[in-house]
Amino acid sequence: MATPWSKTYREDNHTFRKFKEGEHRWSNWESNIFDADHSHKCPTYVQRTPPCQGSCPSGEDIRGWLQIVRGLEKPPQGMSWQEYAFRRLSEANPFPSQMGRVCPAPCEDGCNRNEVEDFVGINAVEQYIGDTAIGCDFSFPVPETESGKGIAIIGGGPAGLTAAYQLRRRGHRCTIHDDHEALGGMMRYGIPGYRTPRRFLDHEIDRILALGGIETRLNVRVGKDMRVADLEREYDAVLWTIGCQSGRPLPVPGGDAPNCVSGVKFLEAFNDGRLKFTAEKVVCIGGGDTSIDVVSVARRLGRIKRTNPKDRPEMAVHGFVAHDAAMAAVRTGADVTLTSLLGRQEMTAAENEVEDAMQEGVRIFDGVMPLEVILGEDGRARSLRMAKCDLIDGRPVMRKGTEFDIEADLVVSAIGQGGNLEGLEEFDNGRGLIDADAFYRVPDREGHFVAGDIIRPHLLTTAIGQASVAASCIDRYLSGGDQRKRPRVDVHHFSLLEKLREQHLEPEEYERRQEWGTCFSNYAIHNYEDRSAHEIVPAEELFLGHFTYTPRHRRAERVPQGDAVLGHFEERIVPLDEDRAVAEAGRCMSCGLCFECDNCVIYCPQDAVFRVKKNQGTTGRYVDTDYARCIGCHICADVCPSGYIDMGMGE
Ligand SMILES: Cc1cc2nc3c(=O)[nH]c(=O)nc-3n(C[C@H](O)[C@H](O)[C@H](O)COP(=O)(O)OP(=O)(O)OC[C@H]3O[C@@H](n4cnc5c(N)ncnc54)[C@H](O)[C@@H]3O)c2cc1C
Ligand code: SF4
Ligand code: SF4
Repeated sequence: MATPWSKTYREDNHTFRKFKEGEHRWSNWESNIFDADHSHKCPTYVQRTPPCQGSCPSGEDIRGWLQIVRGLEKPPQGMSWQEYAFRRLSEANPFPSQMGRVCPAPCEDGCNRNEVEDFVGINAVEQYIGDTAIGCDFSFPVPETESGKGIAIIGGGPAGLTAAYQLRRRGHRCTIHDDHEALGGMMRYGIPGYRTPRRFLDHEIDRILALGGIETRLNVRVGKDMRVADLEREYDAVLWTIGCQSGRPLPVPGGDAPNCVSGVKFLEAFNDGRLKFTAEKVVCIGGGDTSIDVVSVARRLGRIKRTNPKDRPEMAVHGFVAHDAAMAAVRTGADVTLTSLLGRQEMTAAENEVEDAMQEGVRIFDGVMPLEVILGEDGRARSLRMAKCDLIDGRPVMRKGTEFDIEADLVVSAIGQGGNLEGLEEFDNGRGLIDADAFYRVPDREGHFVAGDIIRPHLLTTAIGQASVAASCIDRYLSGGDQRKRPRVDVHHFSLLEKLREQHLEPEEYERRQEWGTCFSNYAIHNYEDRSAHEIVPAEELFLGHFTYTPRHRRAERVPQGDAVLGHFEERIVPLDEDRAVAEAGRCMSCGLCFECDNCVIYCPQDAVFRVKKNQGTTGRYVDTDYARCIGCHICADVCPSGYIDMGMGE
């Protein structure tokens, strides 16, 4: 272990120095440590939110489930650690298997371990937990009481399904309305099955429905087949989770040619089985997630050499025909190009997805803008005129003289999506979306709430996180309470009190009145403060020198090369096995919560810090301090790797 006084990060040899060389003369020694011969600051144990959790839009207790996987936090008697980890994770997110695969993992960008060598592979462990839960058929506990209230949820994508899950857990009855024949939203009709395999998706959806009390009305479009007024009459609240289903057309001359289609429609036609092959030369304009899916799917589908005009891919995309599966047997490789306004490094699609697409034979032109779709005599697109461009004040400006043409017989526009509010114009905020206030209420529409992409298109994890908060606000609305201010760090926190309860160690009940001399009483959690709702613990608060350089356990990928991609619809990610998932969870530094390293006990010069008796301790309650012995030297706080100790409690 590194010496406790070293903390500053040195890239060359991965050592950490707490203080700079020569920094041993303390001008404020007295105020920091001693006041004459008695101390005035002693350790206090402060729980804060780790930055991974603070950056997860679903607000998962990531540190918590990592601690369970690595064996630090023990499950209650009779429950396996796998089930306990799943329960902790799914408090926030009922789709761990999906998210572990396709979430771009903003949590990993925020992870403090980046300051040591590399982030914790949160996403990979999340997938392990999700897949294990499916393998073991873990279910959600059904609600113990019924509220008698009913909520209409419009849209059965990740936001709608998460809201149904969270509302049902609170005993409310829900009805999900969706205009597709199956639930899942973009998880089913946008993202291709080789990224979110359908058997995992179906299982995660069925597990929510197994809670009971969730009715589904499929193939029903609210605003067309059903009136809003009827919903208002039938239900106590309405939640809009309708997502963004309309792809933006190309805003250039010729962009409305019959063989110019939107990325979402192209993918929907592929995902519901209508589109079995594509064109010879496909050009997709984009740079985000949708465009990467379009080009990867186009490479997999390939083309067939002689196509009857009525079987052209755009005919399937527009819903006029469904390709015969047998025709796919004679397909050959398609020439697929992706163009992006932004440079390769700035493209919004996940970096590994872009790399995979290139490996699969997709050609990429970056830093270019479309100028015009060149039409043939038949009025169909035959090429796309492009030019190099610079982004000035967020707008593309072409570089003169750099124009070039790319041949195309299918042009796919994946430059953004908007809501489809046909029949629901009363909710339109003027930008094709629905407004939300801080409590996910639709302004000026009593009893109406909204979550997910229809507020602003983003990510699955964002839709899931918003739906959880919206469900909590609906619950409050239905119980007649005022909406309370939401916490600054609005995520699912570890609760020491709950943990103590789970182990039958909770503090005793007491008469709530002021008393002195409470240090030996058992009706408070002594010397502990929970600041997780307000504070995120940065890397500077940790003693990073404690952690040794340990490479991340990466998931392998099976990415087909070149023409081997044709007809390849297998999943590319190879999940971590149990040993590697546990080892990866072991890299977590437990930011903001004790992980029982014993440093404080070992280094305290006064033997003032001691371990709590085994039968009284639990996660976060492992050590305590004898204040009669403590001299306030703050060594324990310095050597605490997880930033769990603050010097305080004095005058
Ligand atoms: C191609 C593609 C790839 C993506 N890849 C990723 C990725 O890799 N990672 C990631 O995190 N995010 C990704 N996203 C974004 C992610 O899919 C969305 O952020 C997320 O699905 C939004 O969830 P939602 O529930 O708000 O809406 P949706 O998933 O769109 O679900 C809304 C549902 O409501 C239905 N509906 C709409 N209007 C009505 C109506 N009037 N009546 C009844 N039903 C209606 C829709 O048909 C749909 O089923 C991708 C998106 C696309 C399009
Ligand atoms: S949902 Fe996304 S951001 Fe949240 S823990 Fe999972 S990978 Fe990280
Ligand atoms: S080290 Fe662990 S607790 Fe800290 S930010 Fe990373 S995953 Fe979260």
